[in-house]
Amino acid sequence: MPNRNKNVDPDQVRAAVDAVVAEMEVIESFGKLIDHIEGMSELEVNRFGVCVVTADGDVIEGGEASHPFPIQSISKVFALTMALEAHGDDVWKRVGREPSGDPFNSIIDLERKKGIPRNPFINAGALVIADMLLDREKPQHEDVAAFLADHIGANDFDVDPDVFDKEAKGGYTNRALANLAKSFDNLHHEVDDVMKLYVRQCAIALTCRQLALAGRYLMLSPSGRKKKISLQEAHRVRRINALMLTCGQYDGAGDFAYRVGLPAKSGVGGGILAVVPHVASIAVWSPGLDDNGNSLLGTIALERLSERLGWSVFGSVPQVGA
Ligand code: GLN
Repeated sequence: MPNRNKNVDPDQVRAAVDAVVAEMEVIESFGKLIDHIEGMSELEVNRFGVCVVTADGDVIEGGEASHPFPIQSISKVFALTMALEAHGDDVWKRVGREPSGDPFNSIIDLERKKGIPRNPFINAGALVIADMLLDREKPQHEDVAAFLADHIGANDFDVDPDVFDKEAKGGYTNRALANLAKSFDNLHHEVDDVMKLYVRQCAIALTCRQLALAGRYLMLSPSGRKKKISLQEAHRVRRINALMLTCGQYDGAGDFAYRVGLPAKSGVGGGILAVVPHVASIAVWSPGLDDNGNSLLGTIALERLSERLGWSVFGSVPQVGA
């Protein structure tokens, strides 16, 4: 791949990150905490962390960038990457590529579409992707964790046991989605096995720093042990970014594209991973969520950061103050 790095000035990123952290401290967030996940409720809604990793390798942190949180639905990006690596375009025979217009755990459309979920980032789609991961030669329940360790370059993170237990024992809606997909023959393994794999990937706890490092491959930069990214991988990543832009924030994807202008994936743990292709991988965390289940402060922070740094896939504009 040609080197397309835009030589980001780390001092400018540092200044923008510091400014955004200071702004987040004074915003009174009205975000809601997810109530169906154990261990979350005692957190304050307006805690905030951010980490930017540039294509040149600079790591710029702010706020609580070292606080681990369950990545939840952000794991769907990594699982999709693994499924595409293993199954190529066959993935699209079983999952669509359209925004859903429904909440992330909605069941209504799955019946209409005869068991084919709208996209891989709603829960139904992620369950079908998890089913595909079980097809691989060596089914490993640690798979997404292994992928992450590889891309972060270290495995110093854990699966949050409380989050795992709560979602494994409950998770009735997800179980219903899996059963409905199975009734249409779009789940090849047992619902329990698929659920276990899915719930486990959601319960992986990462810090903003680890998440931003894991996301380096999405900016089409080599990550982990890799020195180069192949053309095939670059094409794949561009398409994953397209899906993140159109489907990454559920029913808030349009508003997010308007305000932030970057491919991104949110999780109900309060994290968002955003990508500036060829430039930066950004992770933010703040547990207060908006009505679509996306981090309220995290979205505001990304909006301010992208504006200050002139970052958008829809065209760059001069940086604020430049
Ligand atoms: N584990 C969560 C669930 O299945 C993930 C949802 C999310 O992050 N949007 O409900």
